[in-house]
Amino acid sequence: MAVRIIKTQEDPVLRKKSREVEIIDERIFQLLDDMAETMIKADGVGLAAPQVGVLKRVVTIDVGEGVIEMINPQILEYDGEQFGDEGCLSVPGKFGKVRRPNSVKVSFLNRQGDKVEMEGTELFARAVFHEVDHLDGVLFIDKVEGELEE
Ligand code: ZN
Repeated sequence: MAVRIIKTQEDPVLRKKSREVEIIDERIFQLLDDMAETMIKADGVGLAAPQVGVLKRVVTIDVGEGVIEMINPQILEYDGEQFGDEGCLSVPGKFGKVRRPNSVKVSFLNRQGDKVEMEGTELFARAVFHEVDHLDGVLFIDKVEGELEE
């Protein structure tokens, strides 16, 4: 495993749309391993592949219950609303208030290629929406209401 460099705000790669993963092979395993290591080292709640310069629909999330790996995540349902501080490893040191659904049901492939559905609320829901946004070239700063704070 290896820690990868996290791309920051100015990098155009963060504004591109990521492609679906078609074959889950050794390169995807390596990417998942590296993303988890990079996310943990940076003390992040989530990381999306474009943040390490890879335009593939791959996300890792850890809301304190272990690393969840998501390949080709798709939001199936969401409900409610939460409004709170959000940050991003690609926008270091800055925070802002973002409105997100309070609950989510998401489907994705795990590294075995099995289709998995997962439901969650609050921080988990916020992380899923934030990371899926990254796969479409959207950053939280696009959605901040009020000032971006340092
Ligand atoms: Zn982010």
